[in-house]
Amino acid sequence: MAEESKEYTFENKEFRKTYWHTCSHIMAQAIKRLYPEVKLAIGPSIDEGWYYDMDLDVAITPEVLEEIEKEMKKICKERLPLERFVLPKNEALELMKDQPYKIELINDLPEGEEISFYKQGEFTDLCAGPHLNSTGYVKHNGFKLLSTAGAYWRGNSDNAMLKRIYGIAFQSKEELDEFLTQREEARKRDHNKLGRELEYFTTVDYIGQGLPIIMPKGARVIQLLQRWVEDVEQKNGYQLTKTPYFAKRELYKISGHWDHYRDGMFIMGDPDDETKECFALRPMTCPFQYQVYLNRERSYRDLPMRLGETSTLFRNEDSGEMHGLIRVRQFTISEGHLMIRPDQLEEEFSRCLDLCKYFLGTVGLLDNCTFRFSQWDPANPNNKYEGTPEQWEMAQAAMKKILDDLGVQYEIGIDEAAFYGPKLDIQYKNVFGKEDTIVTIQIDMLLAEKYGMYYIDSDGQKKLPYIIHRTSLGCYERTLAYLIEMYAGALPTWMAPEQIRILTITDRAVEYAESVAKKLENKYRLTIDTSSNTLKYKIRNAQLEKIPYMLILGDKDIENGTVSVRTRTGEDLGALSLDAFEALIADVVDNKKRQ
Ligand SMILES: [Zn+2]
Ligand SMILES: [Zn+2]
Repeated sequence: MAEESKEYTFENKEFRKTYWHTCSHIMAQAIKRLYPEVKLAIGPSIDEGWYYDMDLDVAITPEVLEEIEKEMKKICKERLPLERFVLPKNEALELMKDQPYKIELINDLPEGEEISFYKQGEFTDLCAGPHLNSTGYVKHNGFKLLSTAGAYWRGNSDNAMLKRIYGIAFQSKEELDEFLTQREEARKRDHNKLGRELEYFTTVDYIGQGLPIIMPKGARVIQLLQRWVEDVEQKNGYQLTKTPYFAKRELYKISGHWDHYRDGMFIMGDPDDETKECFALRPMTCPFQYQVYLNRERSYRDLPMRLGETSTLFRNEDSGEMHGLIRVRQFTISEGHLMIRPDQLEEEFSRCLDLCKYFLGTVGLLDNCTFRFSQWDPANPNNKYEGTPEQWEMAQAAMKKILDDLGVQYEIGIDEAAFYGPKLDIQYKNVFGKEDTIVTIQIDMLLAEKYGMYYIDSDGQKKLPYIIHRTSLGCYERTLAYLIEMYAGALPTWMAPEQIRILTITDRAVEYAESVAKKLENKYRLTIDTSSNTLKYKIRNAQLEKIPYMLILGDKDIENGTVSVRTRTGEDLGALSLDAFEALIADVVDNKKRQ
């Protein structure tokens, strides 16, 4: 019984998607009632809610959204059943004759495929389903239309620009209200807004989408994280490499990227003219780092070989996908490859996992992470995967055993594997509830052979190593974005670009301020504000910039050799000796506390 009740709640992902998808039909129906001339395109459910794209010659103002919502409420209350029927192609085309986008969709369906429709009241839509059985199952006060955007038909900028309306729905008004409150809070933290205001990064149209300019503050944080990761990796047996940012197409032909990933690469030269050299920017570091291994013959004693690189990568993502520091076309990642003997797989994999957990845990992101065991899909029609079913079975069985032995709680992601092997993806949910892979550990039993990467085993036989592809803290730009959002810009002191600001109350304190700065500046990042602004103004500025500690210096402090300490949260710690303040901040910084 308990199971059954869960089936129809939002805990059940399939049900949730069905519910939202039904809402998209209700929204389309409402719009069609209000604007009969509308030409509907597609209306899927998404990770959070749904959208519908349409060709509509009306400006979609907040008032219009309200009108649509009102009509939707009516439709819910009308409790219209959703009825499925199928038609042969000619009749389907006839039924949709005034809907050009639907006609295009029907014409694109493979010959012989069932063409199904769903009818609710006077409204019929081309759709494969599934849906709720009645519009009455959608709570009339549990949904909201959230926003509008422009979207090209089929995501192609050569096509017509359509209007997109996003909506969200819950099974009760309370849940909706809670969602809207959280969304408001999330907006305030949005790195794409806050990160620009705090001058961590900016973007420039004529430089290009997905190519952020990391400003001094952002660069400082990334530098700190990067040095930390490199140092810890080194202590964990990683050797640092530095390899080229691009290579001839021949390299990517061996790696498989030329066949599997060419659209995602920036290519320099004519890819089809084999008489001339053609280069491509690297989308990953693997084939470059393998050359280190290949530099001389390897013995079983050389393994595991752990190589790490702070690697800048280039991926030609769709411009519609670009978002702040999270979806970018150039990024820097702590990438690494381990060449190991098969008997070292479990041990090395678990060390990789421990390392990611340490990094993500220290910066504070691990609490919002889940694990996904990403597997291949033998039925993927696009020839995405290399290797034989036997090789895949073996790699996935090995990974499953490791994950189960380590007690990792994971979801399974079918068709999410890399083309050369299964992955453990650490998924991070950001403040908007959107999930992305932050860190990944991949087992690869295929690529070593392609590159002729052998080792001589203890029995004198030539054998193939396994390769683990992994990252530690993922992509630095994206991690910075997540940190800005999680801490609402107030980064923990150890990674804050400016840790201390010294504020003078009068000009008499300037000299003292300089002597205090001198004592602290070797260990901490600080500035002095000796401007003639009022103290109130200086404090406000430091708080807006989220600087962890303010040292406010006046006559009393000069006299007693103290510093008056305030925190960015507004806490007044009073006058402390410089030693006492140093002990306090050292404890926070050296222990990488989250304050
Ligand atoms: Zn549908
Ligand atoms: Zn790799």
